[in-house]
Amino acid sequence: MTTSSETAKPAGGAVKIVKDAVCTFCGCVCDDIELHVDGTKIVAARRACALGTSWFLNHEIADRAACYLAGRPATVEEGIERAAQILAGAKYPLIYGMSDTTVESQRVIVAIGDWIGASVDTTTSVCHGPSGMAFQGVGEVTASLGEIRNRGDLIIFWGANPAESHPRHFTRYSLMPKGLFVPGGRKDRYCVLVDVRKTRSARTADQFIQIRPRGDFEALWTLRALAQGISLDARQVERDTGQPLSVWQDLMNRMKAAKFGVIFFGMGLTMTRGKHANTEALLALARDLNKYTRFVVRANRGHGNVSGADNVVTWRTGFPFGVNLSRGYPRFNPGEYTASDVLARGEADAALIVASDPLANFSEPAREHLKRIPYIAMDPKETPTTRAATVSFTVAAYGINVAGTVYRMDDVPIVLRPAFESPHPSDYVVLQGIERRVRELKADVPLPGVHPAFPRPA
Ligand code: SF4
Repeated sequence: MTTSSETAKPAGGAVKIVKDAVCTFCGCVCDDIELHVDGTKIVAARRACALGTSWFLNHEIADRAACYLAGRPATVEEGIERAAQILAGAKYPLIYGMSDTTVESQRVIVAIGDWIGASVDTTTSVCHGPSGMAFQGVGEVTASLGEIRNRGDLIIFWGANPAESHPRHFTRYSLMPKGLFVPGGRKDRYCVLVDVRKTRSARTADQFIQIRPRGDFEALWTLRALAQGISLDARQVERDTGQPLSVWQDLMNRMKAAKFGVIFFGMGLTMTRGKHANTEALLALARDLNKYTRFVVRANRGHGNVSGADNVVTWRTGFPFGVNLSRGYPRFNPGEYTASDVLARGEADAALIVASDPLANFSEPAREHLKRIPYIAMDPKETPTTRAATVSFTVAAYGINVAGTVYRMDDVPIVLRPAFESPHPSDYVVLQGIERRVRELKADVPLPGVHPAFPRPA
């Protein structure tokens, strides 16, 4: 891969400068990083936060073979052949991961899933899956981070802790920047943090509202009722939400008075009691408030390109994750087709895992079943999942060694500017090889449920 045209090598120095490099460590996808590269080592990452600096500076080319078959070094071609044989021969294949790779690779992954009739799932199912379900049900009133930076005068964080999870969120997008309609920057914005505990983000907020643990659903519906002017029982509100009615009434007054209100939400909302019902309430609240003023909502997404995974799976199947393609058309059913559930029930008989480590974080029944079936894993580094894989590929790291496109948490596509080449192939190249071979193997075998009038795309 070549680096961007903005790459410069200072005269007389061995260190190469890559301007406007992109950090893919978190969903902020900061694209203003200046990398200093000495051979295959990044020695400085200007403007990156502590997490981003660690991501860049600790990057090393894995001293491993590009491919292993059952733990033995093999050529990439041998690995592709074995991987295609496993996937094409499976009755119930599973595909999982996808959040830490490029959009280009994600497209190929979904295509493979389509050819083999797999369940295709991403890491969204274990983080913002409930949001994906809520978006399908309620829709989303939203805006780009650029619009929020230029207009947002009331910023609410709900169940999110950007000070620790997205360290440049405040300074780059949501609180500090001076914008077109908020020329005073931080002085022109009011920030509220709603959470069950006082996190580091509370220090930056003007107001912290501590709600009763697992009381998000009740708190959001209290706000929805207040938005409609419905009178509520003060004692019940305080008992259900942990805060007096007056606190919620004040917040609602502030929300209605805002010129451009924003709610950012995190896994503190989506992974607590109520899950997708919480997110639906939040999305509906933002929609309700548009009767009075402009109000938008955005999820604070974690992995660098998890938004890309949602987008690509949705373009190609109509649903963001947990999609089954075995009948030749997509079916969406989280809990049935999501990877951890498919594995825990012992249903999959083969798997393709891309840039994810389920053996480190899935439930024990899911991990045990994955170890029992043949599976293919690809990752830039050695992980428990690559170590136990039938076919394991060591691939180049996206963003650092591989060009391509990723989606920021607000669904804005960002072009990567890699720092240096890797001796390992990109997952894109390996996946294309697998797709090509799977198609050859499947050429004369009609897949179940494929209607002759609607053949699969060429
Ligand atoms: S905020 Fe996120 S994307 Fe930006 S530099 Fe830090 S880790 Fe990287």
